[in-house]
Amino acid sequence: MRNDVSPIAAADICSWDHEADVVIAGFGVAGAAAAVEATRAGADVLVLERTGSWGGAAAMAGGFIYLGGGTSLQAACGFEDSVDNMSAFLNAAMGPGADENRIADYCAGSVAHFEWLVGCGVPFKAEFFGEPGWEPLGDHGLMYSGGENSHPFNTIASPAPRGHIPQMVDKKQGEASAGYMLMKPLVNTALAAGARALYDIRAQRLAVESDGRVVGVIARQYGKDIALRARRGVVLATGSFAYNDAMVAQFAPRIAGRPAASVEQHDGQSIRMAQALGADLAHMDATEVAIFIDPQQLVRGILVNGRGQRYVAEDSYPGRIGQLTLYHQDNTAYLILDDAAQEAAMASASPKLMMRPPTWVAGTVAELESEMGLAPGSLQATVATYNAGAARGTDPLLHKKAQWLRPIGSPVGAIDLRDCTGGFTLGGLATTLDAEVVHVSGVPIPGLYAAGRSAAGLAAWGYASGISLGDGSFYGRRAGRSAARP
Ligand SMILES: Cc1cc2nc3c(=O)[nH]c(=O)nc-3n(C[C@H](O)[C@H](O)[C@H](O)COP(=O)(O)OP(=O)(O)OC[C@H]3O[C@@H](n4cnc5c(N)ncnc54)[C@H](O)[C@@H]3O)c2cc1C
Repeated sequence: MRNDVSPIAAADICSWDHEADVVIAGFGVAGAAAAVEATRAGADVLVLERTGSWGGAAAMAGGFIYLGGGTSLQAACGFEDSVDNMSAFLNAAMGPGADENRIADYCAGSVAHFEWLVGCGVPFKAEFFGEPGWEPLGDHGLMYSGGENSHPFNTIASPAPRGHIPQMVDKKQGEASAGYMLMKPLVNTALAAGARALYDIRAQRLAVESDGRVVGVIARQYGKDIALRARRGVVLATGSFAYNDAMVAQFAPRIAGRPAASVEQHDGQSIRMAQALGADLAHMDATEVAIFIDPQQLVRGILVNGRGQRYVAEDSYPGRIGQLTLYHQDNTAYLILDDAAQEAAMASASPKLMMRPPTWVAGTVAELESEMGLAPGSLQATVATYNAGAARGTDPLLHKKAQWLRPIGSPVGAIDLRDCTGGFTLGGLATTLDAEVVHVSGVPIPGLYAAGRSAAGLAAWGYASGISLGDGSFYGRRAGRSAARP
């Protein structure tokens, strides 16, 4: 079906159905942060939300917010960090192609942003979670969330955990997690400050003056077109394009058919609406990629590709493992682990949602290799090299930490991890550090702002858990402040 995103001339709009100083499309994390700051700046704010309630993907999220540089939570958990240390990590981990200026800006404001979240009522418990996992099992407030303490990043910056997680009691991983405890206080703060919200309304086109200034939004509600005038500015915050098949095929084809950690409303609408005005884009090929296996199993085994060779330290951030598997190993991976390792993983406190049984089991590595159909000798050479190092407590090839090194014994199994990745898109509208949407000519489009996954953020190729809620809330605030300027 054709999606008409072409801008409409303000002069052609006979009457406006609603008016506000700032109109925000999307009531997820970026929209809520924008609403808080715009109302606090004295603007009359109207938020448009396509579904029947606020929250978006953010309310379903694990809740990691990537912050550091010495937050009070890091200090309370006994970790040292600095702005330069955090920048060094992000410049390496978000690249290739990471935007140094944006990273410097984000790191410099990170401690204050944490205090701002706390000031909005987001609760954090000063307890560190140090086990392998996608999320803390309890209501811990801090965790490594980007492989800061694993190779190669532990040689580039001093390891510091930066995944800040709101406290959520009775967490159910994948269903009701800590993202809810980020969103609820932000939304309550915005509404208490005077922001208004309309639900079941879908932003579709932008309204522009003859001089190119964006002055409103045309939206669809209950089968009718609704015109909403924005006296000062429009903020686009409707999420990524992970669920727009055509855009994924065009910009990020490796992730096609495998959206994960996203919601169907992420259909790229904001990006298309702004593109129709000549907006520039950035990092459209960048994606978060999860590999669907429990990290408790990953750290205890060795991960090999279709040639039976290791390619990443198994104690790395699992999102990095997912990216390297999908993009560099043709989405083919096998986790080799012996009986003792499998039992140890099963005995961990992990909720076992992503725990997998072995696909093949054999008495020797040679038999396993043959059952798996790998080239003769390939897996045997890999295991022999790994075992020789593990016996000495080192991993000279990939530098897995000594605490996880143990020679692989018998019986030995392999878990088939072919085609076991999924994720969401990270690219979007090019914006200034003040969240102004940039025209292809390089100048901001007057009256138009964007944040969250509708905009390109910190991630150029790499990723760390918490970057989306982090840059979404950080630049959402900027968008709200910029749009509220009279
Ligand atoms: C299960 C899960 C776990 C995750 N865990 C983490 C994590 O721990 N840390 C992290 O950083 N990220 C995580 N993410 C990703 C993160 O939630 C999103 O990337 C983030 O919420 C993006 O922020 P946003 O404001 O752009 O989008 P959202 O928070 O999704 O908000 C966008 C809003 O816009 C609405 N909308 C869409 N189209 C329109 C339209 N045309 N008009 C009006 N409204 C519209 C949507 O309904 C939605 O409410 C997770 C996601 C999921 C689903």
